[in-house]
Amino acid sequence: MSRISYVNGRYQHHLDAAVHIEDRGYLFGDGVYEVVTVVNGQMVDEDGHLNRLERSLSELTIKWPVTRSALGVILREVARRNKLRNGLLYFQVTRGVARRSHEFPKNVASALVVSAKHIPKLNNAPDPEGVSVITIPDIRWDRRDIKTIALLPNCLGKQQAKEVGAYEAWQVDPDGTVTEGTSSNAWIITQDGELVTRPPAHTILNGITRMRIIEIARQQGVPFVERPFSVEEAYNAREAFVSSASSFAKPVTKIDDQVVGNGHMGELTELLAQKYLEFVNQPGPA
Ligand code: PMP
Repeated sequence: MSRISYVNGRYQHHLDAAVHIEDRGYLFGDGVYEVVTVVNGQMVDEDGHLNRLERSLSELTIKWPVTRSALGVILREVARRNKLRNGLLYFQVTRGVARRSHEFPKNVASALVVSAKHIPKLNNAPDPEGVSVITIPDIRWDRRDIKTIALLPNCLGKQQAKEVGAYEAWQVDPDGTVTEGTSSNAWIITQDGELVTRPPAHTILNGITRMRIIEIARQQGVPFVERPFSVEEAYNAREAFVSSASSFAKPVTKIDDQVVGNGHMGELTELLAQKYLEFVNQPGPA
């Protein structure tokens, strides 16, 4: 079955789907995006992702390309045309196509593309062996709360991780605290059993999965605090994990050369990962 993508009003074969060379996303990274997971044919946390898109657009004064409800319809249509049961919907909005000039163009419609990706084993339980992360300096800009498509520092960091066989790179601010992964939020559980993640501010992207896991932690009565934590503290943590729409809650068992806890997925991580899996698998509205 061929993949179908949506480009500015048209559903096209993925291989033919293209935007103009003067799309400002292509020229300047002047756009924002979202990734929504689809599990058993249902979008996970659709509202949360659309709320964040609304915020990203508004912070950059990019217009909605279509209404919010029309976007919901388009997302479902892309999922339907791709027979997407388990996988990801990617959608991005750029400021539109205009003659190259830094200042914002006037009277130009924003541009929307949507694509789908199948990931059959998306909702499997996490590997108890976990993954390793490295730490690297955070070289990004000061508005990491906006989900911009300008991801070059994130790509450099992920590539650095990959080259040493690690799954993710945790970015570190000059004060020695971990901000987040290149495509995920970072969490630790201290030796006292307290769940810690950085508070949402301009320094991190407030993950939709992050917010959902916080809610689950509260429901489960897990001691929880939002505060920055240092690399040193992470080395000495009892457990660690990353979260994102596509990786759910994934145990981290090594940070740089330091084994975390006993080197296997910790108890609390397992609980939160399990409850998050139950959440994404729950039947949605008919
Ligand atoms: N931080 C960054 C930098 C990311 O790219 C992502 C993934 N989009 C996240 C955190 C996690 O966000 P979410 O849970 O909404 O996928």
